[in-house]
Amino acid sequence: MQKLAVLTSGGDSPGMNAAIRAAVRRAAYHGVQMFGVYHGYEGLMKGDIQEMTLGSVGDIIHRGGTILYSARSEAFKTEAGQQKAVEQLHKFGIEGLIVIGGDGSFRGAQKLTEKGFPTIGVPGTIDNDIPCTDFTIGFDTALNTIVEAIDKIRDTATSHERTYIIEVMGRDAGDLALWAGLAAGAESIIIPEESHDMNDIIERLHAGQRRGKKHSIIIVAEGVGSAASYAEAITRETGWETRVTVLGHIQRGGSPTAMDRMLASRMGAAAVDLLLEGKKDRMVGIQNNRIVDVDFNEALSQKHQLDLSVYQLARTLSI
Ligand code: ADP
Repeated sequence: MQKLAVLTSGGDSPGMNAAIRAAVRRAAYHGVQMFGVYHGYEGLMKGDIQEMTLGSVGDIIHRGGTILYSARSEAFKTEAGQQKAVEQLHKFGIEGLIVIGGDGSFRGAQKLTEKGFPTIGVPGTIDNDIPCTDFTIGFDTALNTIVEAIDKIRDTATSHERTYIIEVMGRDAGDLALWAGLAAGAESIIIPEESHDMNDIIERLHAGQRRGKKHSIIIVAEGVGSAASYAEAITRETGWETRVTVLGHIQRGGSPTAMDRMLASRMGAAAVDLLLEGKKDRMVGIQNNRIVDVDFNEALSQKHQLDLSVYQLARTLSI
């Protein structure tokens, strides 16, 4: 292969730029040309493609978001859309494509491989919800953003002796809520993977109060329900004043942590190596701190498993 391309798709995540940089520079190291596809699959269908040079990825390793922009595309989900995408890739002489994104983006990449076009996926999402990889690019940064926010809220919670309910991202995956809950010392963590009992949450609040705790922090993953509804229920049951903070999109941006830059650099470079080795239809992952590659089908047919021992540990430590 002499010409490869890279795109970012779906929700952006901090570290995507570091992955793009690694892909471009690794390709250059191998003497291979790298093209950037702008605006995800939408841009791919339109031929919004430009050659990237060593310089075009300078000064981006520390920037959040993605210099290639990201998009969601309904048109690409159609046969005609995918056909158009393959035609554009052929028009530019591109022989392999790296897709940085989440599981939806990987399903799109698979469709291209089914049409005979080699693709490799790099998991970029703050949710950490991709099977077969211990971590995804952006998770560590989002986690640190959340923990920093909770630490600040804790100051006010303590000063005013209040209960705070904090809603974090994670529609189907509770990883961010769970890890942030443990790292920030939350009293209760409410995640989609684990059933919860309102009586238990209230009892834990009372137990804390009996011990002389001045504040309480409860983390709710957005997929379980709104923080406001939990706050109402707690106030109804206890008569205590509660406050709600929905962290929202602040969790998606910001300069990537060193861990995310490392992960992105390793994964972006590995994606190039895999294409040049003639591999396709695979996703790069990290398992036990080793870079691995896994068949898309294998990864996408599984359900993401959250480490429930972390949940049990958080419960033990927050009594
Ligand atoms: P993420 O990659 O973060 O999970 P999405 O699920 O929104 O984000 O997927 C990003 C894009 O990937 C979609 O807008 C669509 O263009 C493409 N895509 C998702 N699922 C499929 C599919 N089953 N077939 C083809 N393309 C898909």
